[in-house]
Amino acid sequence: MEVLGHVRLCVGETDAVRIAQVTDVHRFPGNVTYWDCPKGRRMPLASQDYSKTGDIELLQTVLERCKPHFVVFTGDIIDGRPFHASTPSAWRATFLELLEPVLKFGLPWTYIPGNHDDDGSPWDRADLLQIYDLPGCASQGAKQFNHTFTIGHGDLADDAASLRLWLFDSGGNSSDPSIGYETFTSEAVDAFRELSSTLTPCPSLVYFHIPLPEYGSLVPVHGTQGLFESALMAGMVPRPWCWMPWLVRALGQHRVVGCSKLNSGLFDALVDANGPILATFCGHDHSNDAVFQRSGIFLCYGRVSGSTPPVDWEGDAPLPFEPGIRLVKCSAAEDVAMPTSAGDFQFPVFRALCIS
Ligand SMILES: [Zn+2]
Repeated sequence: MEVLGHVRLCVGETDAVRIAQVTDVHRFPGNVTYWDCPKGRRMPLASQDYSKTGDIELLQTVLERCKPHFVVFTGDIIDGRPFHASTPSAWRATFLELLEPVLKFGLPWTYIPGNHDDDGSPWDRADLLQIYDLPGCASQGAKQFNHTFTIGHGDLADDAASLRLWLFDSGGNSSDPSIGYETFTSEAVDAFRELSSTLTPCPSLVYFHIPLPEYGSLVPVHGTQGLFESALMAGMVPRPWCWMPWLVRALGQHRVVGCSKLNSGLFDALVDANGPILATFCGHDHSNDAVFQRSGIFLCYGRVSGSTPPVDWEGDAPLPFEPGIRLVKCSAAEDVAMPTSAGDFQFPVFRALCIS
């Protein structure tokens, strides 16, 4: 866990800080015209269902409309699989295309990898650390994905007004199918425990790609929890449960999460942290954009932001909503407020909006 400095945002002293979360874009190389999906189907990308530029148009729209001060890319931004015949640095041009609107608005940004950014790619996961060298990156010079820094209106971290961001690498696909995914390293969790007790306490937001196991079995306080329905549509729910989904729902067993079978202990470390951990944000489960609450921490999904075939599992699991970008608004001056509508969720200090 690397400790970086403070990033000054272009925001007024008393204004709320707005952070946009872009996730699960699954960008393809510019020169491919079809996708040979793992299920054996060849899918043309120029179709009414998919687009290779819809992600850029969405990002541009949200930046114009919502004027965030900071952007976090939370993994599966590049899909490594269709790059198998490309060069080891082909990720750069593809990432820069998506970054263009962010740079046009002069916004600082950062990134953490998902399980597909280096999936079947001609580059290694560590090669993607070079993303931190791209223009405008707030994590410039970081030597690892696990790192932390503060953001705020001033030149220096002011504990009363700054926000601390913690970025974690939740790992890649596991070679052991019974585990599913790798998980957070014990070194990162241990370092978080140590640093959260030694750094000056400051309201904190935590970003990673694959949800924590603790996201499971919870009733959303906001948003959609659609992973079970997607698995049902895609024929991935095992027998006999696929024959009686009503019983699964009645028993509350549909509140599933696409996480690793390993528990790194990160959630317990967040609960034990010295200083307020306001919320965590992940992606990965494309049909979820829910917000949960557990032990005083908001556990949030972003919203899938891409429009290539992996986004709706190659058409097997149509999304329950349009692709979007989650915006969080953080302000110590906000009054306590209750949810105002299905699309606008507010709470003290921290506010989340879903944008279609
Ligand atoms: Zn993922």
